[in-house]
Order: sequence, then structure tokens, then C-alpha cells
Amino acid sequence: MIVTDQSTVAHFCCVFYDVLLLTLGRNRQMKIARILTLAVLLLGPSLVSGAESTPPNFVIIFADDLGYGDLTCYGHESIQTPNLDRMASEGLRFTQFYSAASVCTPSRAALMTGRLPVRNGMSSDKRRVLFPNSGGGIPADEVTLAEALQEVGYSCGCFGKWHLGHLPQFLPTSNGFDTYFGIPYSNDMDRLNDVGPKGREAFWDPKSEYWNVPLMQGQEIHERPADQTTITRRYTEAATRFIREHKDSPFFVYLPHSMPHVPLFRSPEFEGHSKRGLYGDVIEEIDWSVGQILSTLEEEGLAKNTCVFFTSDNGPWLIFGDHGGSAGPLRDGKGCTWDGGMREPGIAWWPGKIPGGRVTNELATSMDLFPTFVTLAGGKIPDDRILDGTDISPLLLGTGPSPRETVYFYRGTRLMAIRHQDWKAHFMTQGAYGAEAGKVEKHDPPLVFNLKEDQGEQDPVTSGHEEAVKKILEIRAEHEAALEIPPSQLEIPLREAS
Ligand code: MG
Repeated sequence: MIVTDQSTVAHFCCVFYDVLLLTLGRNRQMKIARILTLAVLLLGPSLVSGAESTPPNFVIIFADDLGYGDLTCYGHESIQTPNLDRMASEGLRFTQFYSAASVCTPSRAALMTGRLPVRNGMSSDKRRVLFPNSGGGIPADEVTLAEALQEVGYSCGCFGKWHLGHLPQFLPTSNGFDTYFGIPYSNDMDRLNDVGPKGREAFWDPKSEYWNVPLMQGQEIHERPADQTTITRRYTEAATRFIREHKDSPFFVYLPHSMPHVPLFRSPEFEGHSKRGLYGDVIEEIDWSVGQILSTLEEEGLAKNTCVFFTSDNGPWLIFGDHGGSAGPLRDGKGCTWDGGMREPGIAWWPGKIPGGRVTNELATSMDLFPTFVTLAGGKIPDDRILDGTDISPLLLGTGPSPRETVYFYRGTRLMAIRHQDWKAHFMTQGAYGAEAGKVEKHDPPLVFNLKEDQGEQDPVTSGHEEAVKKILEIRAEHEAALEIPPSQLEIPLREAS
């Protein structure tokens, strides 16, 4: 067999796997998937004459409060996202990709550690996220994705919203990143009550000076209040500069945009850019940013050795009306454990490695990126703790299914629901915000939906689901037996920490 490049190996394995799908059970598929994945990773470079195997670069682009239905390639009819659509058509688009929480801080902690936030104190039933008056943050003994990659020689840059603690010991530069440029918590915090309109009025025609949010460079305040009108553009410029400066050695770029979290801002060039008002302008600027990242990688000859992943931390903030996004066909949004709160767009792009033009209905979560990227980098997965992420490289490379069959839906420290394969069982439901958020409804037996047939979670299943529920209850018992919940970092006040 004559093989000319890695992409040929990937495509060969991909086609071979598709044939196997028709003939084998899932366990045998998984075994063969592992062999095929190894073939792509190991044989690909060695079969290319003169090619050297260099560790891949990674870029995670993380939107804030972007809904499942907000991109053209996820069905939005008026927001235009040509660069994300291109990523999808040249890469892999997920229809069942979940975050680990429906609000910022716990979701970001999970992305960075590959662990459910309930395991490391990054969730709470009293305060849903960290605030400027919080004294806690990501514990020092957690291993972040940046730390695991730094360990094997990666340069790591974070450009955007962190929200895992704003004190020096919690900032990105104390957690594996060489460079940090961004805001330490949400862009609606540090509200100045004596500037601008009162209450929610300030959001409808927002000005940067209504919020005293700091923009940080490393551990120093670079600008305060942050000029949010140019923040998407400036994160992008810093990230592309970092890519160019580190093109000769492996790098990890984490680009967690502050947008489209309210208050909404976009650069002057994007005013009136979309047919969907201010919110659409903001998404179209994020899409422009994605295009800048992709074209920088292409210009520098890095595209074929860089895996770019786009997703969001949680669903759309629906109480903000047309300043919030859309969960498309999914139920509800940010703040709750209906799918609209936690199922996100997920797009992976890696020319020559990820076979293009694929849509997958396999399950995956943001926590899976930690073990997937660390394994692809040749790094070490911590073996002294429970990891909730699982290596989805077979799914990315087109050599096999996702190993994931189960997703946990936590709200604070409470396990509200479990999805196993197509079945989702709610043990408790609760509204996202407002008066509804105070009412917890318990379901015993659980409220069950078949998401393959009813992704909007509208019609509870009343028969034929007994086996699925039995399995989910077994999964819950096993999961809870191994769970230890430490004190919450989100409940530590600032004065105690200093
Ligand atoms: Mg968010």
C-alpha cells in the first residue's frame, strides 16, 4: 500500500470503521476503534517520507452563554457564521455535545480539569458562580489542561474570561498559562450603581463604564473599566500574535470570549452587521474571530498540526430576551438542567486528521477535551483522582465511536438528571431564574425522555422505558458511592482569603 499523507490513513481508517459499524457490536467496535486510532496516530507520520512526528497544537475557542441554536450550521436563520460553518464543513460537528454545568464557573472548571466541578469545590448550592467578593478559586492541587500540556513542553496562552478565581494564586498564570490577557470574571460584575440607568435598564444600551471590570495582563490590571466594545477584537489579536510567536514549538491557546454574555458589546465595524440586532452582531464578530484564528494557522503552515475546538460554557440567558441567544429546538436555557442549559454547539477542525464534513450524534462533553488533548500530546493523565472526561480521539479521528454513554446533569452539588445513551431521567427539575428557580420539583420515579425521539423534552415517556431507568438508577448509585464533595470554593468570602 502506498500512503502519501496522514489524511489518507485517517480516511482509510474512517471508511474501514464505517464498514465495521454495519457488522459488529459496540464492544468489538471499541476495540477495533482503538487499534485504528493508534494506526492514525503512529503509522501516519512514519509512512510519510521524511515527515517528523511533532506534537499537535490545540486551540479551544469558548463562547460565553452561546445557545445551541445560535449558529447557521445549527439552524439559525438570521445570524451568519460563515467561518464556524466552514469549520463544521471541513471538520466534525457534534449534535450531542454537553458542558458540565449550566453556568460559568463550574462549567469552566470542568473544561480545565476534565472533572465534574462537584469533585473539587467549584460548585455550590448557595452561590452559583464566583463573584468579585469571592475569596476562593480553582484549588492548587487540581491539574489544569494547561499544566498537563506545559509539563510536556507546551507554551500556553489564555485570552479572555477566566472566572476560576481572581486572586493571584487562582489566575491563569498560576495555573499553567505562560500568558494571560483578559477579564477575571463576568463582564456584568463590578456594576457601578451611580453610573448609568438602574437595574436591568443598563443592559439595553450598555456602556463599558457602567461596569468596573478589570482587563488584566498577567496578574496586573491593564485597563479598568475594560473597554468592552473592542474586547473580542483585542482577545483575537493577542491570540493570533501568540500563535505566530510560538509557531516553532507546541502551543495551547485558550480563547474564552467574554461574549455573548450580557452586557453585549461589539466593535464599531460590527454595528448593524447582522439581521439579528445587537446579539447577532456580537455572534458575527465572534465568527470573524474564528476566521482570524483559522487563517493565521493556515498562513503559518500550522493548520495540519493544530486541533481547533469551538464550544460554549452554557446555554443562552433567556431572561434577557433578544439580548440572549437561542437553544434552538432544546428546552430552556442557561441556569437549568434541561438540555437547553447544557447542550452546546461543538465543532472540531484539524485538516488532514479529522475527516471533514461529518456530523456526529455520538455523546461527548467539554470534560473529554482534557484527556483527549493530553493523550494526543503525549502527556500524563493524573491517575490519583477520578477523571470524568474520557478520550474521544477515536471519534475525532473518524476511527470509532465515542466511548461516552453517560452524561451527568448537576446543579450546584445536586445531581438533577442523568442521560444514558438516548434516555434522560430527571430526578429533580427546577426553573433557571426568577420565581421558578425557587421551586424544586422532585420526580420519583424519575421523569424520563427519549432524546432521540423528543430532543425538546416535551413528552415524558410512560412505558417501555423500564430497563433504561433501571440502568440509570444503577449508574447513579455507583456514581454517588464514589463521590466525595469537598467544601465549596464559591462560598469563601474575600476577607477570609486575604
Ligand atoms: Mg456563561
